[in-house]
Amino acid sequence: MVHLSTELIHADDKDNRVTDVAPPINVATTFRYNNDDLIPWNDRENLDFMENEPIYSRLAHPNSTRLESLFSQILGGHAVIYSSGCSAFFAAMIHLNPKRIFMGQSYHGCRAIAHILTRNFDVKQHTLDEIEEFAQEGDVVHLETPVNPYGTSYDIQSFADRAHAKGALLIIDSTFAPPPLQNVWDFGCDIVMHSATKYFGGHSDLLSGVLVVKDEEACKKLRDDRIYLGTNIANLESYLLLRSLRTFEMRVLKQSENATKVVKFLFDNREKYNKVLNKIYHSSLQTEEFVKKQLKGGYGPVFSLTLQNVEQCKKLPSKLEYFQHATSLGGIESLIEWRALTDPYIDQTLIRVSIGCENADDLIQDLGNALQALQDEA
Ligand SMILES: *Cc1c(COP(=O)(O)O)cnc(C)c1O
Repeated sequence: MVHLSTELIHADDKDNRVTDVAPPINVATTFRYNNDDLIPWNDRENLDFMENEPIYSRLAHPNSTRLESLFSQILGGHAVIYSSGCSAFFAAMIHLNPKRIFMGQSYHGCRAIAHILTRNFDVKQHTLDEIEEFAQEGDVVHLETPVNPYGTSYDIQSFADRAHAKGALLIIDSTFAPPPLQNVWDFGCDIVMHSATKYFGGHSDLLSGVLVVKDEEACKKLRDDRIYLGTNIANLESYLLLRSLRTFEMRVLKQSENATKVVKFLFDNREKYNKVLNKIYHSSLQTEEFVKKQLKGGYGPVFSLTLQNVEQCKKLPSKLEYFQHATSLGGIESLIEWRALTDPYIDQTLIRVSIGCENADDLIQDLGNALQALQDEA
């Protein structure tokens, strides 16, 4: 088997069209037809030809094709690329067309999409506790693990078993722990999604999302739908994402290692900062057996804290030197966010932390100083 670091650099070699070592940025929306190969759309058996002969960039373009080659290899299935994580989730909903969606704590944007489906198409929403009671054939269980914003894990295999017992499908949003941290196929899920905006992009400068399915037919249908949903990744973003993927493994492993060290520091020193810190949430603090099995390659780089009061939440970010106060996660730079600023459904004292590729000791010192300052004030 070829290893992840090699696939990240070579899985799209087969899509080379020119001799350039770095794939060119293509800005064209439309491409000249090959006058020696004029086959009417209706006579085409499938859309595979577009991989070699792009037509119009909403359908496919050279770097979106490269990304799908690469993601199909590294994510172990048939990958379909999108303009954002939200458009990937929406595409999955349009494709599966469930009557009921079962969802727990999860990214607020996915929940908002479920609300749109409920508003327009009367799709019923249920909690994850209601699978046994209400799930039927063709319904969708949507599980995010590790979960936003906590960074804690759910037992994927148990949800797969519960969904399948009812004929429902399990989608895993694995954005918070892409491979090599977690390989969700090992635990019986049906569709995987990632917001590629986060770790795959990794530099806080592009939006993208990806769905991965096991079945080639499903992949073709998703690509067909995407043509008319208009949600293919954009030209410039596709170049940036390709460039980012080359270094993805070393970034995410460093982020994971850093986060595990930072969480350990906070946990070991929780008494020292007891007038500031309330709870710490992260998979590395969970003791259930499935957690280590799922996060075989390392813990996710996001964790959350709750503080003693809202005033401390407002102050903490400005006392830090290396953590920028901003939403999002997955980038090489560490971020911290008082989550109430963007998430309408969340505990008002929750602080989400996304660890980057800085030196872990510097991050620990920075956090320690800021917490000490708040402890002294309290
Ligand atoms: C960011 C995120 C999304 C949405 O992705 P976008 O690329 O911002 O549309 C979905 N799920 C999770 C877990 C996320 O963190």
